Amino acid sequence: MTTPSLLILPGDGIGPEVMTEVRKVIDWFGAKRGLAFDVSEDLVGGAAYDAHGTPLTDETMEKAQNVDAVLLGAVGGPKYDNLDFSVKPERGLLRLRKEMDLYSNLRPAQCFDALADFSSLKRDVVAGLDIMIIRELTSGIYFGEPRGIIEEGNERVGINTQRYTESEIDRVARSAFEMARRRSNKVCSMEKANVMESGVLWREVVQRVHDEDYPDVELTHMYADAGAMQLTRWPKQFDVIVTDNLFGDMLSDLAAMLTGSLGMLPSASLGAPMASGRPKALYEPVHGSAPDIAGQGKANPLACILSFAMALRYSFDQGAEADRLEAAVQAVLAKGLRTPDLLGEEGVEPVTTVEMGDAVVTALEESL
Ligand code: NAD
Repeated sequence: MTTPSLLILPGDGIGPEVMTEVRKVIDWFGAKRGLAFDVSEDLVGGAAYDAHGTPLTDETMEKAQNVDAVLLGAVGGPKYDNLDFSVKPERGLLRLRKEMDLYSNLRPAQCFDALADFSSLKRDVVAGLDIMIIRELTSGIYFGEPRGIIEEGNERVGINTQRYTESEIDRVARSAFEMARRRSNKVCSMEKANVMESGVLWREVVQRVHDEDYPDVELTHMYADAGAMQLTRWPKQFDVIVTDNLFGDMLSDLAAMLTGSLGMLPSASLGAPMASGRPKALYEPVHGSAPDIAGQGKANPLACILSFAMALRYSFDQGAEADRLEAAVQAVLAKGLRTPDLLGEEGVEPVTTVEMGDAVVTALEESL
């Protein structure tokens, strides 16, 4: 078997800092668990602009298309705010998502026990929470035509179009059902079929895919507004939620914040299976480049480390090793280690980015 390949794109701001800690974790799995990766590293975002005048070179794009998984830190920063739109750091990330056709965005909302008091909801509502929101990422109202601001009579009109083809709904529905089979075998599909035709079609197609190919998975449908209410009332009723781009944007942020800090949130964006059978995949923390704390050793590396855990699970079929890494994160939090973003309890001294990364490696070592 060939060694699985991983392209690392640290990016800007705290991206390189958190990625240094992920590299330690990757090296540990290589040395202690026999999981060797063919790791290459390249530039994206502002760092790529500084070196090459573009936020993503064609060569890097080509590499991303050919590796088994891409792991990205974060892009952007005030230094690049006045650049032309076409070369802004974020364009590098958008190009990756678009050209790799990453249509299925996985946003887990998992509440680590030690952080349950961090949530704005009561402990018993969030403790033990572990749900997965799957957001359709490449279609819907953010891409539909016509769009724009036009003149109509003596005023302007802003227009966006919600548009979904059956095949676009079909493939993201399959992604949700496959995910459910790896978890608690339950999918809730959310749309607004009561007021939107695209929602009617969404519901029909999800139901058809279910009936034809996934009858073993429990499927329910919910209007997205009711879904938002239920997510804050009793989120543990859900396992996998599948929804469109716009509703998914909002519902995944809502669900993520049930669990505490931005510094804890991983994500994955998956596309169609490659020849190897693995999906095209980009893993990244949900947070940005955090210029306010960059270079100060304050960044929480756990979101990026947990993104690598997702890569272990979804690209490299190493579910048990992903569990081991998540348990190591759970363990360092249980020991009371906190980067500044996780401070809340009195009398706790924060640890640095490097100390947090080292603690995860120590916890991995203790797991043997
Ligand atoms: P941000 O996520 O970078 O930061 C928001 C707040 O959360 C800041 O106070 C920051 O210090 C804190 N924070 C974020 N990640 C943290 C971590 N790992 N540990 C500790 N604290 C953390 O969002 P922003 O401030 O709106 O954007 C900053 C830059 O990042 C902008 O240029 C924006 O365009 C870019 N951005 C990039 C991505 C991405 O690369 N995927 C996502 C969002 C924003």
